[in-house]
Amino acid sequence: MTQFDIIVIGAGPAGSAAATWAAKQGCSVALIDKATFPRTKLCGGLFTERSRAYYHEIFGQDVDLTHAVTREEIAFWHEGRELAVLTDIPALHLTMRLDLDAAMFAHALDAGVEDFTGQAIAELTETAVKFRDNSTLTAAVIIGADGVNSIVAKQLFGKSFDTKTIGFGLEIEAPLSLQDPATQPLRIDFSAATWGYGWSFPKQGSTTVGVGGLRAPNPDMKDHMQRYMRTLGLPSEAVKIKGHHLPFGDFRPTPGRAHILLAGDAAGLVDPITGEGIAFAMKSGQIAAQAACDALKSNAPHTAIDRYKSGLKDMHRNLRIARNLRRIIFAPRWQKAFVGTFRRSGTVRMMYMRLLAGEVEYPELARRVLARLPRYLLNALRRTP
Ligand SMILES: Cc1cc2nc3c(=O)[nH]c(=O)nc-3n(C[C@H](O)[C@H](O)[C@H](O)COP(=O)(O)OP(=O)(O)OC[C@H]3O[C@@H](n4cnc5c(N)ncnc54)[C@H](O)[C@@H]3O)c2cc1C
Repeated sequence: MTQFDIIVIGAGPAGSAAATWAAKQGCSVALIDKATFPRTKLCGGLFTERSRAYYHEIFGQDVDLTHAVTREEIAFWHEGRELAVLTDIPALHLTMRLDLDAAMFAHALDAGVEDFTGQAIAELTETAVKFRDNSTLTAAVIIGADGVNSIVAKQLFGKSFDTKTIGFGLEIEAPLSLQDPATQPLRIDFSAATWGYGWSFPKQGSTTVGVGGLRAPNPDMKDHMQRYMRTLGLPSEAVKIKGHHLPFGDFRPTPGRAHILLAGDAAGLVDPITGEGIAFAMKSGQIAAQAACDALKSNAPHTAIDRYKSGLKDMHRNLRIARNLRRIIFAPRWQKAFVGTFRRSGTVRMMYMRLLAGEVEYPELARRVLARLPRYLLNALRRTP
């Protein structure tokens, strides 16, 4: 049996950030993942300047974008029509999670974290993890950063999420032979899914094409995906379509219990409008680690959850506002009005863009949307049959 201050389960952005930050605070940390790194993760890989700032703060260096594509131009589409092409936008980085997550994991090891990747967990208790080979780790605090299907959340709450209330995404990596990323713009299609959207993200060796949105109103997500691929001129049988859940705004108000904390997707920390999750995963990992180390220093591990909740206050507030705004953007009865306003208003387009790029937070956006609401509603009413 080996003892640590903190066990982190899951070495994605949330887990590697939590482990690195806790080690930097002087805590002993075991980082567990069932996969070995580098490993892939189904994701658009859109890395915003918000993500970049968090990455720098947590890992102490700038993210390596050698293998990424950076774009300052984006096209928005709706029902086969181009709504707008925005140029000179804040930089958007299109990364591959294989490289990105391996880099974060390497930072964790550099910080002194002990590596328990490539090991399957056989049993999880409130303070211990037992592997299939019967070896056991114990810790005063456990951080569950094991994604949307979190076993830590299942242990605490009986299930990770209700699949009816969260999102689902389908993606392909379209090889260069099918599309030329050099000429392919970064593109978002509002009508590609209900309560969601489609994306085409150019990468160095491929284009990541996907559709995603709330699961319940999209029982036919595969049809949406095939239609979207046809729109982009991609043969639907050429590449394997993969799917993954994402907790699209269904965050847990209390992400854990006593000395067991949930971070990243395991806590539902994904933007309900843009689907951005990498930034919130890293940040929540850092906040969870700080809460854990502070609780340990006070000899009161059970206070970790209250400390963590208080550290997450701003993030929760942002996500709550976004969940309300989402109705205006995605609800079918409002979408025509939103799209019309988006087409006509340079201000709305730029605000949406700054939101996507992580330059503006939701409270500011909500204030501006509310200021425009009377005209917006009027337009919506005129257009509603
Ligand atoms: C289709 C799709 C597209 C997306 N596009 C974007 C995007 O462009 N930009 C963006 O910011 N976000 C995007 N997201 C969201 C983003 O992928 C997630 O929010 C982010 O990966 C969350 O990080 P995490 O560390 O919490 O979880 P994960 O990245 O899922 O990492 C969890 C880790 O836990 C490990 N694990 C799981 N179960 C166990 C277990 N039982 N034992 C041990 N280890 C375990 C896994 O192997 C994994 O390494 C997208 C999501 C989807 C589904």
